[in-house]
Amino acid sequence: MKLVKSAKFAYTGNEEVTRLLETFRSMVNDAIRVGLESKTKSRFSLVKLCYHDLRQRYGLHQTYAGAACEVAFSIIKKHQKWQRRPYAGRLMLKIDDCRAYKLSYLLLRIPIAPGHYTFLQLRGGEHQLSMLRDPSLKLSALLITPDSVDIMVSKEVLEPMKTEGKDAYDLNIANVTGVSTSSKEPMVYDVSDIVRFNKKYAQVLSHFRRNDRRIGKRLAAKYGRKRRNRTKSLLHVVSKRIVQSAAKDKHTIVLEKLTHIRKRHERGRQRERRATRHAINTWPFWILQKAIKYKAAWEQIPVEFIDPKNTSRTCSACGSVNKRLRFEREWRCPSCGAMLSRDVNAARNLLNRSLGVQAMRFVAGGLVGEAMVRGAPRGAPPIVDASQPGSPSAGAVSSAESVVQLGRRK
Ligand SMILES: [Zn+2]
Repeated sequence: MKLVKSAKFAYTGNEEVTRLLETFRSMVNDAIRVGLESKTKSRFSLVKLCYHDLRQRYGLHQTYAGAACEVAFSIIKKHQKWQRRPYAGRLMLKIDDCRAYKLSYLLLRIPIAPGHYTFLQLRGGEHQLSMLRDPSLKLSALLITPDSVDIMVSKEVLEPMKTEGKDAYDLNIANVTGVSTSSKEPMVYDVSDIVRFNKKYAQVLSHFRRNDRRIGKRLAAKYGRKRRNRTKSLLHVVSKRIVQSAAKDKHTIVLEKLTHIRKRHERGRQRERRATRHAINTWPFWILQKAIKYKAAWEQIPVEFIDPKNTSRTCSACGSVNKRLRFEREWRCPSCGAMLSRDVNAARNLLNRSLGVQAMRFVAGGLVGEAMVRGAPRGAPPIVDASQPGSPSAGAVSSAESVVQLGRRK
């Protein structure tokens, strides 16, 4: 499997690049027009229709004619979905062929016309530079906008590795809680900032009183962008930590299947406050899962998805289901008296399910090693000995959880 990452660089532009970007946009719009008129169904046929014409009319290097058709085709596709008239508005430029440009350290040479080049001085941090230095990564496409250059690097990734344990994560709106087969302490990542950002930016916009739709729209776009960027960078940090920790221990990552999360929290489906419903429905669970999945694949860590039905209502110690559970943050089992945080209980249930056991005793000083097989009657002989190293023994969960503060510590 081939995976692609991108490294973003800042650069100082020149007039030639600006002109090139504008010309490329015109080429894309030409190709879009041809594509619409001929009702092209495939990328390839669009290239066949436009390639020579674009090359002759604009006189740019050959790589741009093909790239413009590619970009045009994807814009047509995307706008069909949105039912809008396709049009390339933003200035951007793509070079698909890595042989068309040259990069020596941070000096980028891109072609303009045949035999004519321009140079861009890139600026990037240590992270970007390390990606360029990594010998296992291959340079692929290049994306230039008026203020950045994105260099795509690709890597051939092998099958996921054989792992020695599992980490299960329960995603909540305020935190991401993980339990592991090799450690007693739950891992808690505080993500309450995401709800805070949403609230804060909604508040800023609601205070906007001027009756001007255009400015209002522009403001909403600006704050939406800010909110998304902050959320994205937070999720980026969390997913990175989760994958790093799994890679260090050689663990599989267990996550919940999110298929019906929106449906479960539709209006009127269950009694919950409007604010809670809103927070759940705007929380970017998908983005976090996607980021974890992607980063895990990059490190060859397998990811498993488990049906989360009743994970918060089931007791991870005895397997009984507490149907009367509402919004209490503390889980107290009416059958066996186990007490632990609601999120840790849910994460433990995910881990139990993925290990194929129904419940695992881990009350401090309690009956360690009493686990139940799915469907087996209570008191059946244990199949998993939780006191053995490498199995999910849990110890005293009531002890202080280690909450990982994000962004404040390096
Ligand atoms: Zn219980």
